[in-house]
Amino acid sequence: MLIEADLHCHSLASSHAYSTVNEMAAAAANKGLKGFALTDHAPEMWDAPHIWHFHNLVILPRKISGAVVFRGAEANVNSFEGTLDMTESDLKALEWVVASFHIQVIKPGSREENTRAYIKTIENNKWIDAIGHCTTNRYPVDFEPIVKKCAEYGKFIEINESSIIYKKGSRENSYTLLKLCKKYGAQVVVNTDSHYCDLIGETSNAQQIISEVDFPKELIFNSDFDRVCEYISKRRNIDLKI
Ligand SMILES: [Zn+2]
Ligand SMILES: [Zn+2]
Repeated sequence: MLIEADLHCHSLASSHAYSTVNEMAAAAANKGLKGFALTDHAPEMWDAPHIWHFHNLVILPRKISGAVVFRGAEANVNSFEGTLDMTESDLKALEWVVASFHIQVIKPGSREENTRAYIKTIENNKWIDAIGHCTTNRYPVDFEPIVKKCAEYGKFIEINESSIIYKKGSRENSYTLLKLCKKYGAQVVVNTDSHYCDLIGETSNAQQIISEVDFPKELIFNSDFDRVCEYISKRRNIDLKI
């Protein structure tokens, strides 16, 4: 299996997703994943849960049906200055944060504006971990400065299976992005962005592209579960008690 933890998944707390946490955990374990991150949409998405959803994630067991559950969010980039729709203290309290553009929150800008927004997001938000699905044609960007900035700041760039399947340009752009990540030694995170439990851990399209560009496994952050746990516990200064 390409990944040991799927770090971008939605539960029915986002109402355009359809599975409970328990269903997701059971599916993750069945597929042989060691863990997954719950990253429901942050408040400015139209059908997002209330901010309390994120604050209360602490009540969840660390392991459900044998799969480790990381407490996360998918924050919305809501300006070309790289601001987000969650506060620094909201984000700091979580374990894993993906930051993404969504059409419901921010209309696409020019290539320069979109690129700037990612750069500023990386520079100004200490508690984000990854840049989500930046491969769609809807938000054209220059990948090179984004990849360099991620490498410099130690942020992960997502290769998003759902985008490859459903979003125009994502397949082609994933090749470009991976080649640049290889060139600059930037780490990627391969996620499904699943909105239904059976899709967790299913990364066959990403896997094919990765093998075609001969992308090094050591640059795929979530191909190693221990590395994920070590990163999260060090960065957030928490004992995951796994
Ligand atoms: Zn969604
Ligand atoms: Zn998502």
